[in-house]
Amino acid sequence: MKQDLKEVNLKPFLKEAGACIGKAEISAEAAKRKVEQVYFKKELRQYSSEQVDVWVAELRTHYEKVIDCTVCGNCCSKLEPGVEDHEIEKLAEALSEDPISFRRNRVDFDGRALFLKTKPCLFLKDCKCTVYEIRPAACAGFPHLDQPHFKYKQSVWENYQICPIVFEVVEGLKQALDFKMPGSEE
Ligand code: SF4
Ligand code: SF4
Repeated sequence: MKQDLKEVNLKPFLKEAGACIGKAEISAEAAKRKVEQVYFKKELRQYSSEQVDVWVAELRTHYEKVIDCTVCGNCCSKLEPGVEDHEIEKLAEALSEDPISFRRNRVDFDGRALFLKTKPCLFLKDCKCTVYEIRPAACAGFPHLDQPHFKYKQSVWENYQICPIVFEVVEGLKQALDFKMPGSEE
């Protein structure tokens, strides 16, 4: 690594990071960096997956402190979270519905897994999860930056355009590695 992470000024790039009003901003900023992402992934090839995971963990700890999920909820608006059979019962209870009709009306199966099919999520209200304590494990684990082999995890990279934490972690990593697009000026 060209710089110690601690020496890098880890300022959030997104002006509205973590806020509902920042949703348009993250899509626009991610779209601008589409080609850059391809080059950055190539740049990461020279570092071991274990080393990249250590940096990602450090950046994640930093950004999770400055980005407030409770005023964002972008993942809850844009994605359809996976849900397990045992979670359906509790979620149905929260709506005073019986689990069978809940599953019939609100859950779908994509051939591999069950997921909540309403988008934005039916439990999202004013950017907050109304069933936070019993939210599915798939929601609790989002944006999955704690999973090993970050640099190979396509599903996590896709969250760059949705989740301000992922966006800032990737941009922080670029800063820390002093990444420059080939041919760009100093
Ligand atoms: S259950 Fe809660 S955390 Fe999960 S998508 Fe819905 S609102 Fe978001
Ligand atoms: S995990 Fe990411 S997208 Fe979801 S609420 Fe938190 S900051 Fe927003």
